[in-house]
Amino acid sequence: IARNPQESEFHQAVKEILDSLIPVIAAHPKYRENGLLEQLVEPERVITFRVPWVDDHGKVQVNRGFRVQFNSAIGPYKGGLRFHPSVYSGIVKFLGFEQIFKNALTGLPIGGGKGGSDFDPKGKSDLEVMRFTQSFMTELYKYIGSDADVPAGDIGVGAREIGYMFGQYKRISGGHEAGVLTGKGLLYGGSLARKEATGFGCVYFVKEMLASKGLSFKDSTVVVSGSGNVSIYAIQKAQELGANVVACSDSGGYIYDPQGINLDTVKRLKEVDRLRISEYVTEHPHAVYTEGCEGIWSIPCDIALPCATQNEIDEQAAALLVQGGVKAIGEGANMPSTLAAIDVFHKEGVLFGPAKAANAGGVAVSALEMSQNSMRLSWSFEEVDAKLHDIMSNIYTSCVEAADEYGCAGNLLAGANIAGFLKVADAMIAQGIV
Ligand code: NDP
Repeated sequence: IARNPQESEFHQAVKEILDSLIPVIAAHPKYRENGLLEQLVEPERVITFRVPWVDDHGKVQVNRGFRVQFNSAIGPYKGGLRFHPSVYSGIVKFLGFEQIFKNALTGLPIGGGKGGSDFDPKGKSDLEVMRFTQSFMTELYKYIGSDADVPAGDIGVGAREIGYMFGQYKRISGGHEAGVLTGKGLLYGGSLARKEATGFGCVYFVKEMLASKGLSFKDSTVVVSGSGNVSIYAIQKAQELGANVVACSDSGGYIYDPQGINLDTVKRLKEVDRLRISEYVTEHPHAVYTEGCEGIWSIPCDIALPCATQNEIDEQAAALLVQGGVKAIGEGANMPSTLAAIDVFHKEGVLFGPAKAANAGGVAVSALEMSQNSMRLSWSFEEVDAKLHDIMSNIYTSCVEAADEYGCAGNLLAGANIAGFLKVADAMIAQGIV
């Protein structure tokens, strides 16, 4: 804490991992030797830079850009870029740290990194977003590359932003290195099913958890927070599996539609018109819109999929979910539950799918996008989706087996942390850690 002052999200992410490693270190003291853990929590490199750009009124704006290249033990740094006013070093480091273990869990050769800016794309014109992303990439391009560091999207960074950044990268690097970014448009090297991958993958993971108790999505009531990239495709897959998804949200508030969310409306509002979720009720007047996000967790449901942002479920919200009969949580967002909320779920016997396992589908398909770019091939939607399904099942099995082996059977959070750690730690030791 003294070494990384005022980075509370980073402290939270590190504490969660280190707590899970206690039985591993008791069984194998080598993981406590030679400063391995000290190195693991220190990024290999942190880049912070100025991003000046000109707004539509001709005024110069200055934002701050970040890239944390956290760990390359098992492959090039891989992780998204987040554009949101809350972005600072503590957020980027928590996300980068989590990404190391998530990427290891996928079984694909990718290290961990993350980046972003405190730029807020909300309310900006297309041209402002273009000028900002071009300026951002003008600095970032020095540090990335298809074998070095491969950024992707995250909150506030979707196909539009990736497209502008890719265009700028090409312009200044003078080549067409498709594998330098993932989440690209389908016309210029993107992968089918990448857009859907995190949401679909989260539902595939929860499906495995439910099946272990003889349960399923069919006829269940589901609440999903957020209405962005992850949420939309989690809603779609849950509906395809027969669930009734009754609520979703944005940072302004949430909608409750007991007849089931109309996904076409949500997609149009969010993906095409870039409007607020409150607009949903003008087209579906039987639905109810409530301002503020916290209340969404008081809606009774069988399955909750937090897919918006970090720490959106605190201890109180967790207690409300338990009161409402929740049986399973699948974390689509990164670290959406506080440590106290996770304790509530574990104590109450709620099935808990931790973020670094449950939302690994996005980065897994990003790695498949890199493979397709290297091979100059495009796989069909069905091929990519089938690979995603397999990867999520394998991640689930790795979590269960690691939890069993280290005396915490059923605790998938511990299982995910341990399984991811062992791969990274062994690779670090093999490559010489001093
Ligand atoms: P988007 O920007 O597409 O959507 C984010 C959604 O969450 C929006 O509905 C947004 O509402 C809402 N939201 C954002 N910040 C807050 C906040 N502080 N309070 C309440 N609601 C908020 O992002 P993604 O869907 O890509 O990402 C969502 C989460 O999933 C993040 O935690 C991200 O790190 C994680 N993730 C994403 C992956 C991906 O492939 N995209 C991969 C793995 C994890 P509003 O529009 O009002 O801001």
